[in-house]
Amino acid sequence: KMDQNIKVILLDIEGTTTPITFVTQQLFPYAATNVEKFLHDTWDCSETKQVIQQLRRQALVDGEEFGGKVPIIKSVNGIVSKTDVLKSAVENVLWQMSLNRKTTALKELQGMVWKKGYESGGIIGIVYDDVKPALQRLRMLKKRIYIYSSGSVNAQKLLFTYTKFGDLLEYFDGHFDSNFGGKNDAASYRKIAEAINCKPEEILFLTDIEYEADAAISAGLHVHVVLRPGNKLIAEEKLKNYKTIVNLSKLFINSEHGTI
Ligand SMILES: [Mg+2]
Repeated sequence: KMDQNIKVILLDIEGTTTPITFVTQQLFPYAATNVEKFLHDTWDCSETKQVIQQLRRQALVDGEEFGGKVPIIKSVNGIVSKTDVLKSAVENVLWQMSLNRKTTALKELQGMVWKKGYESGGIIGIVYDDVKPALQRLRMLKKRIYIYSSGSVNAQKLLFTYTKFGDLLEYFDGHFDSNFGGKNDAASYRKIAEAINCKPEEILFLTDIEYEADAAISAGLHVHVVLRPGNKLIAEEKLKNYKTIVNLSKLFINSEHGTI
């Protein structure tokens, strides 16, 4: 029976544990609004100095390769004021964000701003109400729980550390992000199975995205597609090929059609 074979639950975040709008409507606007204050407050820290250097190098590359450029002014012998350098850095960041770019320098700085935001209570990690009870229950059933999300492992950890339900990080046995492989690529799921030392068919993967579901299924994993409000709709024709759940409480055997 399936429930006894499942040893591991592998969870997607956006659209599965967390509303899809969390990143676009909360994290990104928070970074845009707070980057100036963050740079101002941490200007003399070595990490901030490093990330400014990274942004400046990126701006030089962009000037040559990317058409438009927003250079970062360099202070020479104090002739250019800190304020001007900072302002040009903020302009560069907002310009990159407006193009939805994912440069390493930008991601690094966004990560720093978000960390500060979470720690100060300015950002609260959003998870659906059914997530913590499901994690507790899976734990009681001795299932191992992993996260696989395109958000960086650091960002995943921040989200689950600072939720309104408290720190949920302790429930997870490990985290994977797209550095491990693309989520639409079957090989990534085989690699995860290998990394956590179990067979693909011992893993149940939960996701909202059909391409991820297909990749995981072709790697031999069990998959439930999670239908949360606001998730991208999957065509009726396609949807009938999947087992679907509307929230994580439906995983469990005492709910109708539950499997675990
Ligand atoms: Mg998702």
